[in-house]
Amino acid sequence: MQSLIDHARMFHRKVSGGREQAAPLKDGISPQAMFITCSDAHVIPSLITGARPGELFELRTAGNIIPPYRLGRLTAEAATIEYAVNILGVRDLVVCGHTRCGAVQGRVRSWTLRSAPTTRWWLLQTHRWREARVSGGEEPGRGHLIAQLDKLRRYPRVARRVASGRLRLHGWFYDVDTGVVSNFQPETGAFTPL
Ligand SMILES: [Zn+2]
Repeated sequence: MQSLIDHARMFHRKVSGGREQAAPLKDGISPQAMFITCSDAHVIPSLITGARPGELFELRTAGNIIPPYRLGRLTAEAATIEYAVNILGVRDLVVCGHTRCGAVQGRVRSWTLRSAPTTRWWLLQTHRWREARVSGGEEPGRGHLIAQLDKLRRYPRVARRVASGRLRLHGWFYDVDTGVVSNFQPETGAFTPL
């Protein structure tokens, strides 16, 4: 932890020095995209995409899970998605899964989460959703990712904007060992390199 504190303590020097990665926000610039991904520490959206401050609006949950939309049910995920789409007006929305995802493995082997009942409930209750068949791979995280995209498309605001061409959905899958990012092709069900 101490190295993290030391870095945070000195971070203002990078900002005031105008280093590219830490340049201050400019007024009036909206995020290029919303990026929904897992909370896993190996997945770093700004590293993967090269996004600078202000360019990505992030939502991170265990297993990049998006709960099914239910009218009148409040969730942090629904509120965050609504804010990105309606207020920030993002035009691209990426859901990014990854290999070796502990949440996906925990859902498949739920007995491993006996000592984490809240996590287990969240993974099981939010995931009663059909898994899509994926061509060309045994990785369970890919079918899991497609299920999240499917749920996302049923959020009314998202559905309306996609239908009118004002919002595009992307399904990415990140290999934490190789760094390769592949892109889901809804027409074929395959994942191809980005
Ligand atoms: Zn994960």
